[in-house]
Amino acid sequence: MDITGAWEIAARGAMLLGADGRLRPTIFAEMSALSVSSGAINLGQGFPDEDGPEEVLEAARRAISDGMNQYPPALGYPVLREAISAHQSRFYGLTPDPDREVLVTAGATEALAATILALVQPGDEVVTLEPFYDSYAAIIALSGARHRTVALRAPDFQPDHDDLRHAVNDRTRLILINNPHNPTGSVLPRETLELVVQLANQYDAIIVTDEVYEHLTFERKHIAVATLPGAWERTVTISSAGKTFSTTGWKVGWLTAPGELLQAILAIKQFLTYVNAAPFQPAIAVGLGLPDSFFHRIASVLQSKRDVLSAGLAKAGFAVSESHGSYFVVADAAPLGFVDAASLCRELPRLAGVVAVPISAFVSDENKGDYASLVRFAFCKRFEVLEQASKQLAGLSG
Ligand code: PMP
Ligand code: GLN
Repeated sequence: MDITGAWEIAARGAMLLGADGRLRPTIFAEMSALSVSSGAINLGQGFPDEDGPEEVLEAARRAISDGMNQYPPALGYPVLREAISAHQSRFYGLTPDPDREVLVTAGATEALAATILALVQPGDEVVTLEPFYDSYAAIIALSGARHRTVALRAPDFQPDHDDLRHAVNDRTRLILINNPHNPTGSVLPRETLELVVQLANQYDAIIVTDEVYEHLTFERKHIAVATLPGAWERTVTISSAGKTFSTTGWKVGWLTAPGELLQAILAIKQFLTYVNAAPFQPAIAVGLGLPDSFFHRIASVLQSKRDVLSAGLAKAGFAVSESHGSYFVVADAAPLGFVDAASLCRELPRLAGVVAVPISAFVSDENKGDYASLVRFAFCKRFEVLEQASKQLAGLSG
Protein backbone atom coordinates (compact mmCIF):
# COMPACT_ATOMS: atom_id res chain seq x y z
CA MET A 1 0.00 0.00 0.00
CA ASP A 2 1.16 3.50 -0.77
CA ILE A 3 1.41 4.97 2.74
CA THR A 4 2.22 8.46 1.46
CA GLY A 5 -1.11 8.56 -0.37
CA ALA A 6 -2.97 7.52 2.77
CA TRP A 7 -1.31 10.28 4.80
CA GLU A 8 -2.19 12.81 2.18
CA ILE A 9 -5.86 11.83 2.46
CA ALA A 10 -5.67 12.00 6.26
CA ALA A 11 -4.15 15.46 5.96
CA ARG A 12 -7.06 16.64 3.81
CA GLY A 13 -9.55 15.35 6.38
CA ALA A 14 -7.55 16.96 9.15
CA MET A 15 -8.00 20.35 7.48
CA LEU A 16 -11.64 20.21 8.47
CA LEU A 17 -11.14 19.03 12.05
CA GLY A 18 -11.45 21.46 14.93
CA ALA A 19 -8.43 23.26 16.40
CA ASP A 20 -8.24 20.51 19.05
CA GLY A 21 -7.92 17.87 16.33
CA ARG A 22 -11.40 16.48 16.96
CA LEU A 23 -14.33 16.13 14.60
CA ARG A 24 -16.44 19.26 14.58
CA PRO A 25 -20.07 18.37 13.81
CA THR A 26 -21.81 20.86 11.52
CA ILE A 27 -23.75 23.58 13.28
CA PHE A 28 -26.97 21.92 12.06
CA ALA A 29 -26.07 18.54 13.56
CA GLU A 30 -24.97 20.22 16.79
CA MET A 31 -28.16 22.24 17.14
CA SER A 32 -30.50 19.36 16.23
CA ALA A 33 -28.74 17.21 18.85
CA LEU A 34 -29.24 20.03 21.36
CA SER A 35 -32.93 20.14 20.49
CA VAL A 36 -33.25 16.38 21.03
CA SER A 37 -31.35 16.38 24.33
CA SER A 38 -33.15 19.45 25.73
CA GLY A 39 -36.60 18.88 24.24
CA ALA A 40 -36.52 22.43 22.86
CA ILE A 41 -38.39 23.41 19.69
CA ASN A 42 -36.03 23.00 16.73
CA LEU A 43 -35.90 26.22 14.71
CA GLY A 44 -32.24 25.47 13.99
CA GLN A 45 -31.72 22.92 11.22
CA GLY A 46 -33.74 23.75 8.12
CA PHE A 47 -36.09 20.83 7.57
CA PRO A 48 -39.88 20.84 7.43
CA ASP A 49 -41.83 19.05 10.17
CA GLU A 50 -44.57 17.90 7.79
CA ASP A 51 -44.56 15.63 4.78
CA GLY A 52 -44.69 16.97 1.26
CA PRO A 53 -47.18 16.09 -1.50
CA GLU A 54 -48.81 12.67 -1.20
CA GLU A 55 -48.41 12.00 -4.96
CA VAL A 56 -44.66 12.20 -4.53
CA LEU A 57 -44.57 9.96 -1.46
CA GLU A 58 -46.85 7.44 -3.15
CA ALA A 59 -44.68 7.40 -6.29
CA ALA A 60 -41.67 6.46 -4.16
CA ARG A 61 -43.56 3.62 -2.48
CA ARG A 62 -44.68 2.41 -5.92
CA ALA A 63 -41.14 2.57 -7.29
CA ILE A 64 -39.90 0.39 -4.43
CA SER A 65 -42.70 -2.13 -5.07
CA ASP A 66 -41.95 -2.03 -8.78
CA GLY A 67 -38.36 -3.05 -8.14
CA MET A 68 -36.53 0.23 -8.81
CA ASN A 69 -34.02 -0.69 -6.16
CA GLN A 70 -30.73 -1.08 -8.02
CA TYR A 71 -28.18 1.42 -9.33
CA PRO A 72 -29.67 4.02 -11.65
CA PRO A 73 -27.58 5.14 -14.67
CA ALA A 74 -24.67 7.47 -13.85
CA LEU A 75 -26.52 10.61 -14.96
CA GLY A 76 -29.73 9.60 -13.14
CA TYR A 77 -32.89 7.96 -14.50
CA PRO A 78 -34.06 9.47 -17.80
CA VAL A 79 -37.54 10.09 -16.34
CA LEU A 80 -36.07 12.46 -13.75
CA ARG A 81 -33.63 14.14 -16.15
CA GLU A 82 -36.49 14.76 -18.56
CA ALA A 83 -38.61 16.16 -15.72
CA ILE A 84 -35.75 18.48 -14.66
CA SER A 85 -35.35 19.71 -18.22
CA ALA A 86 -39.12 20.27 -18.53
CA HIS A 87 -39.10 22.14 -15.20
CA GLN A 88 -36.29 24.44 -16.41
CA SER A 89 -38.31 25.07 -19.56
CA ARG A 90 -41.63 25.70 -17.75
CA PHE A 91 -40.24 28.09 -15.14
CA TYR A 92 -37.25 29.69 -16.89
CA GLY A 93 -37.56 29.10 -20.64
CA LEU A 94 -34.28 27.11 -20.57
CA THR A 95 -34.04 23.83 -22.46
CA PRO A 96 -31.13 21.74 -21.13
CA ASP A 97 -30.64 18.51 -23.05
CA PRO A 98 -31.65 15.73 -20.62
CA ASP A 99 -28.97 13.42 -22.03
CA ARG A 100 -26.01 15.82 -21.88
CA GLU A 101 -26.84 18.82 -19.73
CA VAL A 102 -28.67 17.42 -16.69
CA LEU A 103 -27.04 15.45 -13.86
CA VAL A 104 -28.82 13.96 -10.83
CA THR A 105 -26.78 14.16 -7.62
CA ALA A 106 -26.92 13.13 -3.95
CA GLY A 107 -28.52 16.39 -2.88
CA ALA A 108 -27.28 19.85 -3.74
CA THR A 109 -24.40 19.10 -1.37
CA GLU A 110 -22.86 16.57 -3.74
CA ALA A 111 -23.54 18.78 -6.76
CA LEU A 112 -21.62 21.59 -5.03
CA ALA A 113 -18.75 19.34 -3.97
CA ALA A 114 -18.33 17.67 -7.37
CA THR A 115 -18.57 21.02 -9.18
CA ILE A 116 -15.98 22.77 -7.03
CA LEU A 117 -13.58 19.80 -6.99
CA ALA A 118 -13.94 19.39 -10.77
CA LEU A 119 -13.52 22.99 -11.80
CA VAL A 120 -10.86 24.53 -9.56
CA GLN A 121 -7.12 23.96 -9.12
CA PRO A 122 -5.04 24.82 -6.07
CA GLY A 123 -4.25 28.53 -6.24
CA ASP A 124 -7.46 29.50 -8.08
CA GLU A 125 -9.87 31.84 -6.35
CA VAL A 126 -13.51 31.14 -5.60
CA VAL A 127 -15.73 34.09 -4.77
CA THR A 128 -18.81 33.60 -2.59
CA LEU A 129 -21.19 35.83 -0.74
CA GLU A 130 -20.70 35.96 3.04
CA PRO A 131 -22.43 34.62 5.17
CA PHE A 132 -22.20 31.38 3.13
CA TYR A 133 -23.66 27.89 3.45
CA ASP A 134 -21.25 25.84 5.55
CA SER A 135 -20.25 23.26 2.94
CA TYR A 136 -18.92 25.95 0.56
CA ALA A 137 -15.92 26.84 2.72
CA ALA A 138 -15.19 23.19 3.51
CA ILE A 139 -15.08 22.07 -0.13
CA ILE A 140 -13.22 25.17 -1.30
CA ALA A 141 -10.61 24.41 1.37
CA LEU A 142 -10.35 20.78 0.21
CA SER A 143 -9.90 21.94 -3.38
CA GLY A 144 -6.86 24.01 -2.43
CA ALA A 145 -8.43 27.18 -3.85
CA ARG A 146 -8.48 30.54 -2.09
CA HIS A 147 -11.90 31.55 -0.77
CA ARG A 148 -12.74 35.25 -1.25
CA THR A 149 -15.98 36.65 0.05
CA VAL A 150 -18.30 39.57 -0.57
CA ALA A 151 -20.11 40.75 2.54
CA LEU A 152 -23.88 40.83 2.85
CA ARG A 153 -24.69 43.32 5.57
CA ALA A 154 -27.78 43.76 7.73
CA PRO A 155 -30.52 44.73 7.38
CA ASP A 156 -31.11 43.92 3.68
CA PHE A 157 -28.13 41.58 3.11
CA GLN A 158 -27.47 42.67 -0.48
CA PRO A 159 -23.91 42.73 -1.83
CA ASP A 160 -22.36 46.10 -2.60
CA HIS A 161 -21.59 46.16 -6.33
CA ASP A 162 -18.16 47.71 -5.84
CA ASP A 163 -17.27 44.98 -3.34
CA LEU A 164 -18.27 42.42 -5.95
CA ARG A 165 -16.12 44.14 -8.60
CA HIS A 166 -13.14 44.19 -6.23
CA ALA A 167 -13.49 40.50 -5.36
CA VAL A 168 -13.32 39.19 -8.94
CA ASN A 169 -10.02 39.18 -10.85
CA ASP A 170 -7.91 37.13 -13.28
CA ARG A 171 -7.40 34.38 -10.71
CA THR A 172 -11.14 33.95 -10.10
CA ARG A 173 -12.21 30.55 -11.37
CA LEU A 174 -15.70 30.35 -9.86
CA ILE A 175 -18.24 32.90 -8.73
CA LEU A 176 -20.47 30.85 -6.43
CA ILE A 177 -23.74 32.51 -5.54
CA ASN A 178 -26.65 31.29 -3.47
CA ASN A 179 -29.98 32.78 -4.40
CA PRO A 180 -32.44 32.82 -2.57
CA HIS A 181 -29.91 33.03 0.21
CA ASN A 182 -29.35 30.82 3.23
CA PRO A 183 -29.01 32.05 5.99
CA THR A 184 -30.14 35.65 5.34
CA GLY A 185 -33.36 35.15 3.33
CA SER A 186 -32.23 37.74 0.78
CA VAL A 187 -33.04 37.44 -2.93
CA LEU A 188 -30.65 38.94 -5.46
CA PRO A 189 -32.12 41.50 -7.88
CA ARG A 190 -31.57 41.37 -11.63
CA GLU A 191 -28.91 44.15 -11.59
CA THR A 192 -26.70 42.17 -9.21
CA LEU A 193 -27.09 39.00 -11.26
CA GLU A 194 -26.24 40.97 -14.41
CA LEU A 195 -23.07 42.22 -12.75
CA VAL A 196 -22.13 38.64 -11.83
CA VAL A 197 -22.55 37.60 -15.47
CA GLN A 198 -20.60 40.60 -16.69
CA LEU A 199 -17.69 39.91 -14.31
CA ALA A 200 -17.69 36.21 -15.15
CA ASN A 201 -17.42 37.07 -18.84
CA GLN A 202 -14.79 39.75 -18.27
CA TYR A 203 -12.53 37.42 -16.24
CA ASP A 204 -13.50 34.16 -17.91
CA ALA A 205 -14.88 32.71 -14.67
CA ILE A 206 -17.58 30.07 -14.26
CA ILE A 207 -20.78 30.92 -12.39
CA VAL A 208 -22.03 28.30 -9.94
CA THR A 209 -25.48 29.13 -8.66
CA ASP A 210 -27.10 27.33 -5.74
CA GLU A 211 -30.84 27.81 -6.22
CA VAL A 212 -32.21 25.19 -3.83
CA TYR A 213 -34.83 27.68 -2.61
CA GLU A 214 -35.87 28.67 -6.15
CA HIS A 215 -39.59 28.13 -5.44
CA LEU A 216 -39.58 29.69 -1.99
CA THR A 217 -39.60 33.45 -2.48
CA PHE A 218 -41.93 36.04 -0.98
CA GLU A 219 -42.76 39.41 -2.60
CA ARG A 220 -39.74 38.87 -4.87
CA LYS A 221 -39.40 37.00 -8.12
CA HIS A 222 -36.64 34.43 -8.36
CA ILE A 223 -34.47 35.03 -11.40
CA ALA A 224 -32.38 32.03 -12.51
CA VAL A 225 -29.01 33.52 -13.40
CA ALA A 226 -28.63 31.08 -16.32
CA THR A 227 -31.48 32.91 -18.09
CA LEU A 228 -29.49 36.15 -18.42
CA PRO A 229 -27.71 36.91 -21.70
CA GLY A 230 -24.15 35.55 -21.72
CA ALA A 231 -24.77 33.31 -18.70
CA TRP A 232 -25.87 29.81 -19.76
CA GLU A 233 -22.62 28.81 -21.48
CA ARG A 234 -20.62 29.46 -18.31
CA THR A 235 -23.12 28.57 -15.58
CA VAL A 236 -23.68 25.49 -13.43
CA THR A 237 -27.16 25.68 -11.86
CA ILE A 238 -27.73 23.57 -8.77
CA SER A 239 -31.00 22.69 -7.08
CA SER A 240 -32.53 20.08 -4.83
CA ALA A 241 -35.84 18.35 -4.29
CA GLY A 242 -35.45 18.55 -0.53
CA LYS A 243 -36.78 22.08 -0.06
CA THR A 244 -39.47 22.13 -2.74
CA PHE A 245 -41.04 18.78 -1.86
CA SER A 246 -40.22 18.61 1.86
CA THR A 247 -38.03 15.56 1.27
CA THR A 248 -34.70 16.72 2.70
CA GLY A 249 -33.81 13.16 3.78
CA TRP A 250 -34.12 11.75 0.27
CA LYS A 251 -31.07 13.69 -0.89
CA VAL A 252 -32.14 14.08 -4.49
CA GLY A 253 -30.41 17.05 -6.09
CA TRP A 254 -29.35 17.97 -9.59
CA LEU A 255 -27.40 20.36 -11.73
CA THR A 256 -27.81 21.67 -15.23
CA ALA A 257 -24.81 22.91 -17.20
CA PRO A 258 -23.35 22.96 -20.71
CA GLY A 259 -22.25 19.43 -21.72
CA GLU A 260 -18.48 19.97 -21.43
CA LEU A 261 -18.70 21.37 -17.92
CA LEU A 262 -21.08 18.61 -16.93
CA GLN A 263 -18.66 15.92 -18.16
CA ALA A 264 -15.87 17.31 -15.97
CA ILE A 265 -18.21 17.38 -12.98
CA LEU A 266 -19.42 13.84 -13.68
CA ALA A 267 -15.81 12.65 -13.73
CA ILE A 268 -15.62 13.58 -10.02
CA LYS A 269 -19.20 12.76 -9.07
CA GLN A 270 -18.94 9.16 -10.30
CA PHE A 271 -16.27 8.54 -7.66
CA LEU A 272 -18.11 10.33 -4.84
CA THR A 273 -21.41 8.45 -4.70
CA TYR A 274 -21.58 7.16 -8.31
CA VAL A 275 -25.42 7.27 -8.02
CA ASN A 276 -28.10 7.42 -5.30
CA ALA A 277 -31.77 7.36 -4.36
CA ALA A 278 -33.07 4.99 -7.09
CA PRO A 279 -36.76 4.82 -6.04
CA PHE A 280 -36.87 8.49 -5.09
CA GLN A 281 -35.79 9.67 -8.52
CA PRO A 282 -39.05 8.77 -10.35
CA ALA A 283 -40.98 10.17 -7.36
CA ILE A 284 -39.27 13.54 -7.69
CA ALA A 285 -40.04 13.44 -11.41
CA VAL A 286 -43.72 13.29 -10.39
CA GLY A 287 -43.18 16.27 -8.07
CA LEU A 288 -41.52 18.38 -10.74
CA GLY A 289 -44.53 17.76 -12.96
CA LEU A 290 -47.09 19.01 -10.41
CA PRO A 291 -49.23 21.92 -11.61
CA ASP A 292 -48.22 25.56 -11.10
CA SER A 293 -50.77 25.80 -8.27
CA PHE A 294 -48.60 23.49 -6.14
CA PHE A 295 -45.56 25.73 -6.54
CA HIS A 296 -47.59 28.86 -5.75
CA ARG A 297 -49.10 27.26 -2.69
CA ILE A 298 -45.82 26.18 -1.08
CA ALA A 299 -44.49 29.74 -1.41
CA SER A 300 -47.63 31.35 -0.01
CA VAL A 301 -47.92 28.96 2.96
CA LEU A 302 -44.26 29.50 3.77
CA GLN A 303 -44.73 33.26 3.48
CA SER A 304 -47.49 33.08 6.12
CA LYS A 305 -45.16 31.06 8.34
CA ARG A 306 -42.47 33.68 7.87
CA ASP A 307 -44.99 36.30 8.96
CA VAL A 308 -45.94 34.40 12.11
CA LEU A 309 -42.37 33.84 13.22
CA SER A 310 -41.11 37.29 12.22
CA ALA A 311 -43.93 38.91 14.23
CA GLY A 312 -43.19 36.62 17.18
CA LEU A 313 -39.50 37.49 17.11
CA ALA A 314 -40.22 41.22 16.87
CA LYS A 315 -42.64 40.98 19.78
CA ALA A 316 -40.00 39.16 21.79
CA GLY A 317 -37.67 42.13 21.30
CA PHE A 318 -35.40 41.02 18.44
CA ALA A 319 -34.64 43.38 15.54
CA VAL A 320 -35.92 41.25 12.66
CA SER A 321 -34.66 41.45 9.08
CA GLU A 322 -37.13 40.94 6.25
CA SER A 323 -36.82 37.52 4.70
CA HIS A 324 -37.76 37.36 1.00
CA GLY A 325 -36.89 33.74 0.38
CA SER A 326 -35.59 30.41 1.79
CA TYR A 327 -36.66 28.80 5.08
CA PHE A 328 -34.93 31.40 7.24
CA VAL A 329 -35.17 34.76 8.95
CA VAL A 330 -32.33 36.65 10.66
CA ALA A 331 -32.96 38.33 14.00
CA ASP A 332 -30.58 40.59 15.89
CA ALA A 333 -30.47 39.73 19.59
CA ALA A 334 -28.54 42.90 20.56
CA PRO A 335 -31.70 44.87 21.51
CA LEU A 336 -32.39 42.12 24.06
CA GLY A 337 -28.92 42.58 25.52
CA PHE A 338 -27.38 39.48 23.90
CA VAL A 339 -24.33 40.52 21.93
CA ASP A 340 -22.94 37.03 21.35
CA ALA A 341 -25.42 34.94 19.36
CA ALA A 342 -23.23 31.83 19.57
CA SER A 343 -23.51 31.72 23.37
CA LEU A 344 -27.15 32.79 23.22
CA CYS A 345 -27.93 29.82 20.94
CA ARG A 346 -26.30 27.42 23.39
CA GLU A 347 -28.42 28.94 26.19
CA LEU A 348 -31.66 29.38 24.24
CA PRO A 349 -33.07 25.91 25.04
CA ARG A 350 -32.80 26.73 28.75
CA LEU A 351 -33.93 30.35 28.40
CA ALA A 352 -36.84 29.82 26.02
CA GLY A 353 -37.09 26.15 25.02
CA VAL A 354 -36.08 27.01 21.45
CA VAL A 355 -33.10 26.06 19.29
CA ALA A 356 -31.69 28.42 16.64
CA VAL A 357 -28.39 28.88 14.79
CA PRO A 358 -25.91 31.78 15.16
CA ILE A 359 -25.09 33.53 11.87
CA SER A 360 -21.42 33.41 12.86
CA ALA A 361 -21.52 29.71 11.83
CA PHE A 362 -21.82 30.90 8.22
CA VAL A 363 -18.99 33.42 8.43
CA SER A 364 -15.17 33.13 8.21
CA ASP A 365 -13.23 33.57 11.45
CA GLU A 366 -11.92 37.02 10.58
CA ASN A 367 -15.42 38.40 9.93
CA LYS A 368 -17.37 36.79 12.76
CA GLY A 369 -17.37 40.04 14.72
CA ASP A 370 -19.51 41.75 12.09
CA TYR A 371 -22.33 39.27 12.62
CA ALA A 372 -21.86 38.51 16.33
CA SER A 373 -25.38 39.21 17.61
CA LEU A 374 -27.34 37.75 14.68
CA VAL A 375 -29.39 34.56 14.94
CA ARG A 376 -30.98 32.46 12.18
CA PHE A 377 -34.44 31.02 12.86
CA ALA A 378 -36.10 28.44 10.56
CA PHE A 379 -39.80 28.96 9.87
CA CYS A 380 -40.39 25.76 7.80
CA LYS A 381 -42.37 24.34 10.73
CA ARG A 382 -46.08 23.91 11.52
CA PHE A 383 -47.98 27.07 12.44
CA GLU A 384 -48.69 25.84 15.97
CA VAL A 385 -44.99 25.15 16.49
CA LEU A 386 -44.07 28.67 15.34
CA GLU A 387 -46.75 30.16 17.59
CA GLN A 388 -45.59 28.15 20.58
CA ALA A 389 -41.95 29.13 19.92
CA SER A 390 -43.00 32.80 19.66
CA LYS A 391 -44.79 32.57 23.00
CA GLN A 392 -41.75 31.03 24.66
CA LEU A 393 -39.37 33.58 23.13
CA ALA A 394 -41.56 36.41 24.43
CA GLY A 395 -40.29 35.49 27.92
CA LEU A 396 -36.72 36.48 26.96
CA SER A 397 -37.22 40.19 27.55
CA GLY A 398 -38.95 39.69 30.89
N1 PMP B 1 -27.33 24.78 -0.38
C1 PMP B 1 -28.08 25.47 0.48
C2 PMP B 1 -28.09 26.95 0.39
C3 PMP B 1 -28.83 24.81 1.45
O1 PMP B 1 -29.56 25.52 2.31
C4 PMP B 1 -28.79 23.41 1.51
C5 PMP B 1 -29.55 22.61 2.52
N2 PMP B 1 -30.36 23.22 3.32
C6 PMP B 1 -28.01 22.74 0.59
C7 PMP B 1 -27.28 23.44 -0.33
C8 PMP B 1 -27.90 21.25 0.62
O2 PMP B 1 -28.97 20.66 -0.02
P1 PMP B 1 -29.19 19.07 0.00
O3 PMP B 1 -29.82 18.73 1.29
O4 PMP B 1 -30.04 18.83 -1.18
O5 PMP B 1 -27.85 18.45 -0.14
N1 GLN C 1 -29.40 23.19 4.80
C1 GLN C 1 -29.96 22.97 6.08
C2 GLN C 1 -29.90 24.26 6.88
O1 GLN C 1 -29.34 25.23 6.44
C3 GLN C 1 -29.20 21.94 6.85
C4 GLN C 1 -28.62 20.82 6.09
C5 GLN C 1 -27.62 20.06 6.91
O2 GLN C 1 -27.88 19.75 8.06
N2 GLN C 1 -26.48 19.85 6.37
O3 GLN C 1 -30.39 24.28 7.97
